[in-house]
Amino acid sequence: MTSEIRVVAPAKINLSLAVGGAGEDGYHRLATVYHAIGLFDEVVVRPAGRTSVTVSGSGVDLDAVPTDEQNLAWRAVAALSAHVGRDLAVHVHVHKNIPVAGGLAGGSTDAAATLVGLDALFELGLPRADLMHVAAGLGSDVPFCLVGGTAVGTGRGELVAPVMARGSYWWAVVPGEGGLSTPRVYAEFDRLAGDTDVPEPELPEDLLGSLLAGDAGALGSALVNDLQPAALSLRPTLTVPLDAGRDAGALGSLVSGSGPTTVFLCADADHAREVRDLVVAATGAATGFVVPGPVPGAKVSAARLAEGPR
Ligand code: ATP
Repeated sequence: MTSEIRVVAPAKINLSLAVGGAGEDGYHRLATVYHAIGLFDEVVVRPAGRTSVTVSGSGVDLDAVPTDEQNLAWRAVAALSAHVGRDLAVHVHVHKNIPVAGGLAGGSTDAAATLVGLDALFELGLPRADLMHVAAGLGSDVPFCLVGGTAVGTGRGELVAPVMARGSYWWAVVPGEGGLSTPRVYAEFDRLAGDTDVPEPELPEDLLGSLLAGDAGALGSALVNDLQPAALSLRPTLTVPLDAGRDAGALGSLVSGSGPTTVFLCADADHAREVRDLVVAATGAATGFVVPGPVPGAKVSAARLAEGPR
């Protein structure tokens, strides 16, 4: 019997995020290009009599992360238990490196990693389609967090399809101070749109072309986020990192998802360090990351076998 499964869970950014009107379910229709980056939480699952969650991490707002049924990792345990019709009781420990409420899908990736961990721990051998189905019920970004890489998301983001993408890229990632609530940013998007007709969301051809070619310069110019004006409206100081990144020669600068994290596409790792340092200096941010992308989705990194009787 396996006594412990460790899963690495990557953050995501949106290379493009087109937002349409809200559907009947209240969710906005999206057309997005997701990109998983090398900034990881770690999720550890161990068999237990009943489910519990603990959280650790440094440099992240742990007080904002629930450790009860509200934690997305706990919700993943409940959802997969319901799916297989059996109580998959575990202790889940989440070690967070991904900023909380940062627009990087931190909670969603922990949920995806928990599904992967449970499948391995209980040797369920579930087809990928089952995990994707359960993931979609947990949140719009969770299916992508299972898949990773670079992929298109439509519907409310949960319909994930592969995209032809070449090359790998270097990013400077700078957390904003405090978080921004995703529902609040969508409400601000609606307020700014007012009575205007919001067009159907579309995938930008120029961005898809740059990915196909593996052309970092063209990708940098094509980055786009329809939520950025709403994030800037709620947090006007986000112009400071965006301007600093541009001045530092970033190939492209963007608010990540609903923010307030800002991301900067760079020519290589050294350039990303330079941009990170300049943006951190301009904003006074506590930290900034230099990470590659794309990286794979949530993946088992280690399994420990329980010792049998001697
Ligand atoms: P997204 O981009 O998917 O909208 P986000 O990256 O902006 O999300 P998260 O880090 O997922 O935001 O956190 C959003 C909220 O989810 C937090 O404020 C917290 O209350 C709740 N939450 C539940 N589970 C977790 C978790 N495992 N890690 C972080 N936050 C969690």
